[in-house]
Formats: sequence, structure tokens, C-alpha cells
Amino acid sequence: MSHIFVNIAFGIVTCLVFGFFTKNVLKTWFTMQKIGKGKEENRLTHLGERLQKVATEGFLQKRMYKDMSAGIMHLMIFWGFLIVSLGTLETLMSGIIPGFNFAKILGEGTLVYKAFLLSQDWANMMVVIAIAWAISRRLFFPPARFATLAKASRIDAYIVLSLIFGLVFTALITMGAHSLAFSLPEADVYAPQLFFSRLIASGFGALFGIATPEAWQIFSDSVWWLHVTILFSFTTFLPYSKHQHLIWVWPNILLKSQHSTGRLRPMEFAEDAESFGVGKVTDFTWKQLLDGMTCVECGRCSAVCPATNTGKKLNPRNIVHHLKDAMLDAVKHPEEEQRKPLHGGIVSQEELWACTTCGACMEACPLHIEHIPAIVDMRRYLTMTQGEMPSELQTTLQNLESQSNPWGFNNSTRADWAKGLNVKTMEEAKGEVDYLFWVGCAGSFDERYKNVSRSIAKIMNEAKLNFAILGSEEKCNGDSARRAGNEYLADMQIKENIETFQKYKVKKVVTGCPHCFNTIKNEYPDFGFKAEKVIHHSELIDELFSEGKLAAKTSTAEPVKTTYHDSCYLGRHNKVYEEPRETLQKIPSVQLTEMPRNKENGFCCGAGGARMWMEEKEGTRINQNRAEEALKTGAKTIATACPFCMTMMRDGVASFQKDKEVQVKDIAEVVAESL
Ligand code: SF4
Ligand code: SF4
Repeated sequence: MSHIFVNIAFGIVTCLVFGFFTKNVLKTWFTMQKIGKGKEENRLTHLGERLQKVATEGFLQKRMYKDMSAGIMHLMIFWGFLIVSLGTLETLMSGIIPGFNFAKILGEGTLVYKAFLLSQDWANMMVVIAIAWAISRRLFFPPARFATLAKASRIDAYIVLSLIFGLVFTALITMGAHSLAFSLPEADVYAPQLFFSRLIASGFGALFGIATPEAWQIFSDSVWWLHVTILFSFTTFLPYSKHQHLIWVWPNILLKSQHSTGRLRPMEFAEDAESFGVGKVTDFTWKQLLDGMTCVECGRCSAVCPATNTGKKLNPRNIVHHLKDAMLDAVKHPEEEQRKPLHGGIVSQEELWACTTCGACMEACPLHIEHIPAIVDMRRYLTMTQGEMPSELQTTLQNLESQSNPWGFNNSTRADWAKGLNVKTMEEAKGEVDYLFWVGCAGSFDERYKNVSRSIAKIMNEAKLNFAILGSEEKCNGDSARRAGNEYLADMQIKENIETFQKYKVKKVVTGCPHCFNTIKNEYPDFGFKAEKVIHHSELIDELFSEGKLAAKTSTAEPVKTTYHDSCYLGRHNKVYEEPRETLQKIPSVQLTEMPRNKENGFCCGAGGARMWMEEKEGTRINQNRAEEALKTGAKTIATACPFCMTMMRDGVASFQKDKEVQVKDIAEVVAESL
């Protein structure tokens, strides 16, 4: 590398390659900003928390360890690659400035320079091992989630893995051969730091019969050129590859929603609007398009999706891919509105309606992609603009509109479950209570779940809490209408409820349903009501036990084996995992056992996202899948904390003809029986 013209030419090529890379990245970024004009919330608040997420989720890759071997492998590649980048910088500089190396800056023979060489030797070797591991895994024992990968996506992965392998392997050979080219004692000073490089280079030396310092230097220079050729190819290819997640993961984590995954973004209804929700690519927000560009198609979301796992058309990986397809289509054809329609062209109605909004995909995605908001935004278009939805859902929405409950019961009978119990209404109590007990539609009208409401009331009375219910002043909380895409109806319901809350100056709310809990806690603040405290009854019961206000009676009978099914809206969306379990463990008649899929890895019952009101026509039933898992534990009681879960688990158990032996009970019932 001594000829000045070669150095100048190399400098020009380097600038062109990295200029091309930067141009492509910026073009994608500005396209997202330009196309994704849909209204978006401010994503730059809570900067400290955001940076913390970048550290834990970006640099430490916390979510990757759910699959430990893949997590370690990915971490080795990521950190190795970061360290190796310093060596890459030295390589490029040495191509432009004759004789350049970091020894000139750090000092020949110094400890710092030795540390640099050692880091390069180890990091390159670490990446070689990890990439060899990744390629062998794909070839010989691929995880199930790779089975449905498109051919282009598989080829892309092999190209990128091979390029990275080539990059680090040639770096090792170049370093080792260069070191071996010098028989001088000062060069051998670095032998311990370049252990792997010299070992691998020596292997090639033996193969090719390299013996003289000149031959070593020629070999080192030749591999150096191969190394930079691979580097330039990788840099040029990256913006066209699905592995451009290396670039987009950083803004995607930094700009991720700071809200609970259970919260949906509210809509504004412009008077002259002709369309609502997402009907075409320009209706997505730039963040949603960024999600699409960030996806690496790893399939972790699909592997845990209850719809995908039970044979539905919905596959969350494909949903995210649709966003990317829609955007790339719009980029290629800017003059046309959108050649391939989003609905019916890129995404089907069956996919959109199959989602239970369980959040398993969002919890699993290592790149923090937000699937649910995109799905619900597209549902909003179907429901509010097109008026297209499953017919069963249409009936539910009509009932919600006329009677403020999904079954269409006369809303004036809402408090009938409480007859004969010591339960006041807010009107009777004049709002002077500590807690509003928000009963919910199921707790008020579902014959089975009324017993749960009675149990909660019994527990609150036992603990001498001052509480009241709204009775016929309570209206559906808005969860089902929102998730069915009818934001207009949900908006009305929520605002009516908030007016009632404000009338009674409600400060603390305890709910008998995780869906009510999630909506009042995470969504009502967007509409102007933020209570001092909103808790689910499982949290309240746990609190009452801890404060000594409740005590379970001792039991001499054999404890009943009980398994707890996590509700997605209580667990995954609101992180209430321990309280129900701690409560159950305090009951002497209960012996708690876990299902394999529990807590954040729990499996949905199939009823969230307004799926409760739709028929499950495709594939196998989600509730049967979950009930089977519960039955396999040998539990005689399946404890739930949600009316939808209770219905689904009861139906699931009955489908296996086990309903005589196995009972499904809410934890409030288990506790009330033990008092
Ligand atoms: S959305 Fe996330 S989890 Fe799903 S395939 Fe893409 S990167 Fe993987
Ligand atoms: S929210 Fe649940 S059902 Fe919907 S796509 Fe994600 S994993 Fe599947």
C-alpha cells in the first residue's frame, strides 16, 4: 500500500461506498417521514427512560435471552462487531494513509496498543464462532419459526451471515499474516495478543508453503484486499437487506411507545374527514413505517401468537411485513396513490379480525415493534369507513350502542346481582366512599360471573372497605368497541363514564375485570380522567391480605391442585403477575402449580381484542389449546381473574368433557370461599 495513487483511489472508493450507504439510509428515513403523515403522539418525552431502554434492550439485548442459545449467539455477534469496527476503521485509514496503524497514535508496544490488538483478536474470533454457530443452526437444526420464512428472506440471511463471516475471518488472517511477516523481535512482542490471528494465518501458511517474511507480507496484503472488498460489499448490500435492522433498531427502541402495550392511541374526528383509521399507506404514522423497516423477520412474534399457533391466517411477522411492502410500493410508485390496495391487496380482513390483541408478539419482539396499534388502526378503517366486520360483531356493537352492554340486557338491571348484599350505589352513598367498585358488563349480566362480583363484594365487606357501585349509571368501559375498531362508539362510552366519575369525584377505582382495568387505567387519561388509583380486584385482595384485613381460615383437608391462567390484559399489558399468585398461595386449601406457558409467556384464552364477540371459524380453537395445557398439569381448579378467560376456559375444559372434574373459578371466589 505504498503507491500514492492507489491510496487516493482507495480513499475515493471508500467515500463513494459510505456515501451511497448514507444516501440510502437517509432516503428511507425521509421517505418514512414524508409518507407516514398519520397523526402521531410525541415520541420524544421521557428521554432518560428512553435512553435507559436503548442501553438495556439495544446494547444488552435483554429480550433475546428468552431463547438463551440464540441470545448468547446474537450478543457475541453484536458486541464482537462493535469492537471489530475499531479495527475496520484502522483498515480503512491504512488504505488511505500509507503506513497508518493505531500504534502510531497509541504508541508502539504500549499497554493500550496491546489491549487494542488483544480486543481485535478476541472479538474477530468470537464473531467467527458465533456466525459459524448461526449458519449451522439454520442449516441443521433450525427453530420452528424459520419454517414459514420466504425463500428470499432465507437467502438474505445466508448472504449477510457469509459476508460477516468473510469480514472477520479475513481480518484475523490479515492481522496474523502481517505479524508473522516480521521476524524482528519487536513484532513478536505482539504474539500473545494476536494468538488466534497468528494461529489461523499459520494454518494457511502451512497450506500454501509460506516461509519468508516477503511471502507473508504478500499474503497479508492479498487478504487485506479481499477483506476490504467484502467490507464494501456488505456496506452496499445492507440497506437492501432485512438486516438493515442494524440501523433502524436504534431509533425504533428510542422512539418506542412509553405507554402500556394495552393502551390504544385515541383518534380525533375531523368534521370533513372522509376516511377513518388506516386504509392506505399514507394513513400509517412514520413510526409504524419505521416498525416495518426495522423488522428482521425473525418470527419470534409468530412463534408465540395464539392465532398463528392455532392455524389462523394471521401471522404477526407478515403483518409487519405488510407495512414494509406498502411503504416500498409507495416509494417505487410515488406518482400513483397506491397501486396495490392495502385492504384486500396487501392485508386480508381474516388476518385483521383474528387478532386477540394479547400482546404476546409485542412482548417477544426484540426490536420493540408495535403490532397491535397497526392492526387496530386497520380495523378502524374496516369498521368506521367501510362498515365491514364479522356479522356477530355487528350485533354486539348495536347492543353496546342501545343498552351499553354487549349482550343487549336492559341496562337498568345492572345492579340486580347485588340484591340482598350490603352494597350501596354511588347515588345512595352520595359519592362519599373510598372506592368505586367498577363491576363491568360481565360482572353485572353474565350469570356465572355475577358470582365473582358477589365474591368481590363479600371480600370488600369483610375487609370493612367503604365502597359503592354505579349500578345503572355504569356503561361499558369501551374496550370491546375500541378493539373492534369502532372508536366513535368507544369515544362516546368513555366520555359518558368520565362524566359520571367526575360527578361523584371518583378517586380510587377497583375493577372486577382486567379489560375495564386496562381501559380505565391506561386509556381514560387520554380522554381527561386520571384516577388517583385504579386497581384490579386481584391486586386489592393481595393488598388486603398484606395489611392483615383478610385472613383465610385454616383447612385440614388435602389442598386442591390449582393452576392460574394469566389474563393478557392483567398480566402482559399491565404486569400484574405476582399478586394473584401470592393470594392463591395464602389460601391453605390451594396447592399452586404452573402451566409451562405462564406470566409474560402465558398463552391467551382467545377472547381479547373483541374476539369474545366473534366466532372462531378458522383452524383449531385457542381456548382448547390453553385448556389442554391447564388440564395436563393435573389441576382440579383452574383459577382465572377475568370474565372472558373464565368463559373461554370453561368452554375449553367442557370440550374435553372434563367439566365435572375440573372447576374454573375466579380468584375472588377461591378467596371468598376460604374466609
Ligand atoms: S416483528 Fe419483531 S419478532 Fe416479529 S419477525 Fe419482526 S423482528 Fe421478529
Ligand atoms: S396481539 Fe396476540 S393475537 Fe394479535 S398478532 Fe400479536 S400475538 Fe397474535
